[in-house]
Amino acid sequence: MNMADSSILASTLTTRGYRRVGEEKDADLIILNTCSVREKAEDRIYGRLGEISKFKRRKPNLKVAVVGCMAQRLGEDLSNKVPHVDYVLGTDRLFELPDVIEGIEGSQSVMTAFGHENMDMIVPIKETPYSGFITISRGCDNFCTYCIVPYVRGKERAHSADYIINAANEMAAEGVVEITLLGQNVNSYLYEDVDFPELLRRVATETDISRIRYMTSHPKDLSRKLVDVMASSDKILPHIHLPLQSGSNRILQKMGRIYTLEHYLKIIEYIKSHLEYVSITTDLIVGFPSETEDEYFQTLEAVEKVRYDSAFMFRYSVRPGTAAAKYDDDVPEETKIRRLNRLIKLQQEIAYEQNQREVGEVRNSLVEGFSRRSKESMRARTEGNKTVIFPTSENLTEGSVVPVRITAADAFTLHGEIVEIS
Ligand code: SAH
Ligand code: SF4
Repeated sequence: MNMADSSILASTLTTRGYRRVGEEKDADLIILNTCSVREKAEDRIYGRLGEISKFKRRKPNLKVAVVGCMAQRLGEDLSNKVPHVDYVLGTDRLFELPDVIEGIEGSQSVMTAFGHENMDMIVPIKETPYSGFITISRGCDNFCTYCIVPYVRGKERAHSADYIINAANEMAAEGVVEITLLGQNVNSYLYEDVDFPELLRRVATETDISRIRYMTSHPKDLSRKLVDVMASSDKILPHIHLPLQSGSNRILQKMGRIYTLEHYLKIIEYIKSHLEYVSITTDLIVGFPSETEDEYFQTLEAVEKVRYDSAFMFRYSVRPGTAAAKYDDDVPEETKIRRLNRLIKLQQEIAYEQNQREVGEVRNSLVEGFSRRSKESMRARTEGNKTVIFPTSENLTEGSVVPVRITAADAFTLHGEIVEIS
């Protein structure tokens, strides 16, 4: 979501005559689009602001903007705490940055009030010439007890299906082959009588986009109808990111997640039995307040049962103002680290095994460029959102979709060869 917002802001600035420079030392304006989801994300921003203060000493006219979630959360306090920050614009105001810089009437250097967002400014954005993001909804109404997102991104509001379909068609006309529909919880999308499965069906049938992804799903709202729509169209890529968070029902309840492990496993079973091939990924938190060793083991067991293709795994981090911040953060840091490391190790073993299952299969993959190591191999993204490396083929360009036969795999990457160029 932040990447999408950053791209929208960059494109707004470019249309207003600003130019992107390669290095910070050459910039007259540095913008940090921030994340508040964990304390570490905010700490890194303070670190970056420390580095930027050195540039500012050498170049007093340099302007520094902090935008997005951390700006929203801290507002005036941030500009007081870090005096060399010139502009602090929250999640509803960041797209107004050009107005603020140019001193347009009514704009101020610190703006964080909600209710000012102009959904029309949230233009769909091409991330590369061949792929793009379309934000279908912003904000979140879920209030999981650990999570700061609803406080910094506000209430959920949705774009109309027509707007989303037009956006996808415009992108397709410009050569985009893959889009990602974005929302904090796409499954609660509702605009008039169009729900998310219906939206997805319409994007698949009424646009020329050939590869459609979406994220993120909340298990409480993921319906069978959605899985059936996915099964009905080759254009909807077989990847589901379904955050579990914990394998313990008591912890899930304390997290305010509204589902049980049993319900979650039922959805997984339905997904696996209705999609011929699917890659399933997740988010997990260890060390939530009062999590016992036994409850942590239930998370490990759940991970073993589901067999995720990959996972984002986190130590619980207190976010001031959330409901869980009132609980005692009683799992010692060393325990959180130990639990996280063991979980990561287990998940890596499972990812390795999952990837071995791909060997011999052919996956239609979107070419993203040369591999990081050498021009002799190229990198592409499979239908299941995995990176695959294969020997460079001369007439292949970024944005092509090619069938790649998987020949080998480790826990993080697949290796393969092109079957034929389409
Ligand atoms: N809307 C998405 C993503 C939310 S933030 C969703 O509901 O899935 C991404 C992930 O960060 C969450 O899924 C959760 O695993 C993690 N996260 C959020 N708050 C956290 C906190 N306070 N401590 C540790 N991890 C957190
Ligand atoms: Fe946060 Fe829960 Fe909303 Fe995801 S669904 S953004 S974890 S409150």
